[in-house]
Amino acid sequence: MYVDQASAQELKAQLVDLESQYSDILAAKLNLDLTRGKPSGSQLDLSNGLDGILAGSYKAEGGDDCRNYGGLDGLAEAKALFSQVLGVKPSETLIGGNASLTLMFQSVVFTHLFGARGPGSAWSAEGEIKFLCPVPGYDRHFGICEELGIKMIPVAMDENGPVMDEVEALVKSDPCIKGIWCVPRFSNPSGIVYSDEVVDRIAQLGRIAGANFRVMWDNAYAIHALHDDAPVLANLMDVARQHGTEDSVLIFGSTSKVTFAGAGLAFMGASEENLKHFKKHLGMCTIGPDKVNQLRHVKFFGDYSGLMAHMNKHAELLRPRFDAVLEHLDAGFAESDLGCWTVPEGGYFVSFDARPGLAREIVRLAAEAGVKLTPAGATYPYGKDPEDKNIRLAPSFPSLADINKTMEVFVLCVKLASVRQKLN
Ligand code: PLP
Repeated sequence: MYVDQASAQELKAQLVDLESQYSDILAAKLNLDLTRGKPSGSQLDLSNGLDGILAGSYKAEGGDDCRNYGGLDGLAEAKALFSQVLGVKPSETLIGGNASLTLMFQSVVFTHLFGARGPGSAWSAEGEIKFLCPVPGYDRHFGICEELGIKMIPVAMDENGPVMDEVEALVKSDPCIKGIWCVPRFSNPSGIVYSDEVVDRIAQLGRIAGANFRVMWDNAYAIHALHDDAPVLANLMDVARQHGTEDSVLIFGSTSKVTFAGAGLAFMGASEENLKHFKKHLGMCTIGPDKVNQLRHVKFFGDYSGLMAHMNKHAELLRPRFDAVLEHLDAGFAESDLGCWTVPEGGYFVSFDARPGLAREIVRLAAEAGVKLTPAGATYPYGKDPEDKNIRLAPSFPSLADINKTMEVFVLCVKLASVRQKLN
């Protein structure tokens, strides 16, 4: 369906047909949800072996009793394993609690209040602080900035990552810019993987922006490929080391979408100097993390190849769900001017761009028909998508049958909203 090429008469005929289909769906009183990127029950089941795996043996490699207090930056064996996910040395790794979002929030708060390099380096002492936010992006990153009053500047992304000419020009011209949010592999929501050139240029931002600038490298989907031949991401810490900017990067990850989303492990990779400052403040928040869970995870995976074998099982469960979404989009819109979308090779999302001005209306129509979609605008700072066109689809959680039903409704709502807009 090409609405731009159709006559008013053809569009009116389309509208009658689409509205009758929509009425049928309203009558079906659906209750479906394609909002958050949560693992499905069968994905969670893959890690049930964590339960009871310690069989009463709580001693860590170093002899510590994991049930007790202490070990602020985590167990050595957990660092050895998960440093490989982050691409840093074990000495540059901290294993935290169950949420990488907590580590990100703490990193920003500590740097804002206390400075990353001790007294005098606090962002709050420098007046207005700004962060670059490649868009579309992850709403909870934007939430952290909003919560702390950090002004967000959206920057465009293309198939290689953030548009670096734009990023560098902004960083050069505005000393208030102290950070950038990045989801570098299977980005949320576009699924793109940053190119080697983009990683190299991001690693050099610290040199341009000064010592208080931080790249927030949220590699949440580092090992979440759908296919064996998915694109590989360059190692940011290695590249930063080559440029002498390793203090400018903070790398995050977790097992939220590896084991249990609510009871996994979060980890952070940073230069030893950055970790020293982080731990000073972390020690005011906690006496130590849940080391029993860290030990369980190490025992469960054994080593990095065990972890990767586990990720292949996730990919097997996720692939058909992504395929279903993509098949519906293809069938609905391949021959059309109604939208375009990404074909991710990993991660948790498909990003759909409708015709400008329609995302909110499509989400509203779907909600009325009993299908919850991520709120339009959520992928932009302050919830404001300037073109009102991006919608994030998250197919991991629903059953295949529900995805099929949901996508039928989605395709219909896009068509209906587009034809109505064209006729108005
Ligand atoms: N970062 C990104 C890019 C995400 O998409 C998500 C969850 O959807 C998270 C972080 C949350 O991670 P965690 O559960 O470790 O806090």
